[in-house]
Amino acid sequence: MRIRNQVSRKLREVRVFARAMESKHHPILAQIIPIRRCNLACSYCNEYDSFSKPVPIEEMLRRIDRLGELGTTIITLSGGEPLLHPQCDDILRRIRATGAMATLITNGYLLTPDRIHKLNAAGLDYLQISIDNVQPDDTSKKSLKVLDRKLEWLAEHADFAVTVNTVLGADVRNPEDALTIARRARSLGFNSTVGILHDGTGQTRPLPAAQIRIYEEIRKLETAVFSFSHFDHFQEKLVQGQATEWHCRAGSRFLYICEDGLVHYCSQQRGYPAKPLASYTKEDLEREFHTEKACAPYCSISCVHQVAMLDEVREAPREMLADLVARRRQTDPSFQPPFLLRAAAWTFLDNPKAKTFGKAAAALLGRRSGENE
Ligand code: SF4
Ligand code: SF4
Repeated sequence: MRIRNQVSRKLREVRVFARAMESKHHPILAQIIPIRRCNLACSYCNEYDSFSKPVPIEEMLRRIDRLGELGTTIITLSGGEPLLHPQCDDILRRIRATGAMATLITNGYLLTPDRIHKLNAAGLDYLQISIDNVQPDDTSKKSLKVLDRKLEWLAEHADFAVTVNTVLGADVRNPEDALTIARRARSLGFNSTVGILHDGTGQTRPLPAAQIRIYEEIRKLETAVFSFSHFDHFQEKLVQGQATEWHCRAGSRFLYICEDGLVHYCSQQRGYPAKPLASYTKEDLEREFHTEKACAPYCSISCVHQVAMLDEVREAPREMLADLVARRRQTDPSFQPPFLLRAAAWTFLDNPKAKTFGKAAAALLGRRSGENE
């Protein structure tokens, strides 16, 4: 069963990639909040409260269906703590029914073997668990000490892929914890990523030299196939305190849907455009695709960076792919790009006659009804 799920997931990853290459007129990734409440209270977080009720299930399902109608290819449940929503599994099932990949970001506290089996049954594709430190402290209780047992249960029972995200940042007290956590994640067969802590507007400060060394060590451990985190030139510059010139496609290729059903740019830029998802149209997607965001140069929202990288591949494939691989080979001369990048290279670099790959793959792997590219 596990292997069958892995194969199915890989095929759907290829479809997400193929559809992103084929068209710029749909959201690649949407993050949606089923409940704002959280069972923890990390001192750096501005994305939770301690009192909100879950969004009623009928309303959540309507929102998921609307994202499906817009052609969204990956839908992520976030929060607050999404596992506090009593019908979280029904929401995941509905995401899969739209044809999108279903992913979940959790603090892991509510995971048990039984909960993991229910997530398997609901069709979850990816789970990201964030671990901030080895021992809990007054900043964060998301510690390896508390969550290690949960990681073991995930390794034993989960049919879905697991990513353990840890953090670095100028204010992080014990930065070497990030490396301990990333190594533990890899030892259990999970992917590991590292985020750079941002302030309340999504901006970051440069990392001290010791943290940059730890960051480089963790990057060498990353393995995800459908992830551009290996090549994250945004993060590479951020850790050095340098600005990046890029076009943020939030509101178009990436959507953030709050508990009130409004579309925002991202978790750190709520209030723009703040239009109800129910009336969000292809024209809104088109407008926001072109809107310049003043917060872009020092933005640390890595999921939006990754969406932008897909569009960079789409718009200037030859330059983007050659640059990605060349930069990685500066630190690792024997580096071989993962499957999806090799497929893209075959399509765009080595075989100019094969530029219809995106269309062909999307057609082969199935297009959902109602899409109109
Ligand atoms: S667990 Fe996540 S959502 Fe909850 S307070 Fe901490 S960072 Fe915020
Ligand atoms: S650049 Fe985009 S993703 Fe980053 S903070 Fe601004 S709106 Fe959000």
